[in-house]
Amino acid sequence: MNHELSRSIISAIQGVIGDSQVNLHEPEFKGNERKYLNDCIDSTYVSSVGEYVNLFENKLAEFTNANFAIATTNGTAALHLALVVAGVERGDEVLVPSLTFIATANAVAYCGASPHFVDVDTDSLGIDPIKLNEYLKNTTKLKDGKCTNKITGQPISALIPMHTFGYPAKMEAILEIGDTYKIQIIEDAAESLGSYYKAKHTGTLGKIGIISFNGNKVITTGGGGAILTNDKKIAELAKHLSTTAKVKHKWEFKHDSLGFNYRLPNLNAALGCGQLEVLQEKLENKAKLHQEYKFAFENIDGVNLFEGIPDTRSNHWLNVLILSKKTENILEETLRDLNDAGIASRPVWNPLHKNSTYKNSQHSDLSTTEELSGQIINIPSSPQLLSKS
Ligand SMILES: *Cc1c(COP(=O)(O)O)cnc(C)c1O
Repeated sequence: MNHELSRSIISAIQGVIGDSQVNLHEPEFKGNERKYLNDCIDSTYVSSVGEYVNLFENKLAEFTNANFAIATTNGTAALHLALVVAGVERGDEVLVPSLTFIATANAVAYCGASPHFVDVDTDSLGIDPIKLNEYLKNTTKLKDGKCTNKITGQPISALIPMHTFGYPAKMEAILEIGDTYKIQIIEDAAESLGSYYKAKHTGTLGKIGIISFNGNKVITTGGGGAILTNDKKIAELAKHLSTTAKVKHKWEFKHDSLGFNYRLPNLNAALGCGQLEVLQEKLENKAKLHQEYKFAFENIDGVNLFEGIPDTRSNHWLNVLILSKKTENILEETLRDLNDAGIASRPVWNPLHKNSTYKNSQHSDLSTTEELSGQIINIPSSPQLLSKS
């Protein structure tokens, strides 16, 4: 191999962001983060009680236009809690794309349920609704009002679309499938804060949605997550279960069900309040960076910059290069050359059905997932990279 493709990719990227060493996605704290953290420390309310948690939730609800936001210790906890609140139980199956971060499936397993993997399509990188509809038509039946897997006899209680790298999935068609087959939609919007499907923020289209504020996401609380919902009962139950299901009382310790310690600490929420103030600016810079990458890759053969589907707006969390199918075997060479050149870049996650934990899970045909996993490269996407060039 002659590294020709790597050379053109490297020069395209360096033409946009310069030639210093860069990471894939870095946080930045140039706003009021320090001030709020100091304030939090001075108040001594650094833990599970404090004003910043409520403030963070209100601001997040306002930004996403969700009726309610409940802050949690991380995105995985938010997803676990969302599934518990949605009533996913031991012995259920939950439909999950195989092309996602492992947390999506782990949250299902924490409920004692089984992830059941489905395929994605190349135009959204999210669940392929046409393929899913065909699959469900053939493999499920309605039994006692529940969608049931004809092979295992287990109920399929939820479907988790994930908005890959911030690019919205085909939600309209997915929601329709949910209605047709009586399957609840829980959105894994961990990566897509600031992404919209038509006019709606991702994570607010299904019954419940979740966001992650891990250090590598668009904005961070250190570690953190949130549940979004428009349903008051769901919101109240999620908050109750995230705080050990403790019944409100000045001094008594009574818990009315099996709860979790999933509440976001005040210290993390303080950081998040500072970050939310600069979110819009970050999104604008990420859009500009994406636009510049688009120009840079326009005339390069053998690779395409992923754009997402019409009627959506992406936060461009991680920019995605898709290698042409014929060049599939050079994924590894390209990754090595890019990383050697100081450009942090990575392939997509190992498809979940190929991880040992889930190798025996139920799954549909996953040919697009398998093909894409040999074609995807994420390239540096921090919004602050623009000013470095
Ligand atoms: C980051 C992420 C999560 C989990 O979030 P954490 O805050 O790291 O627990 C879940 N799903 C997807 C798709 C993610 O990218």
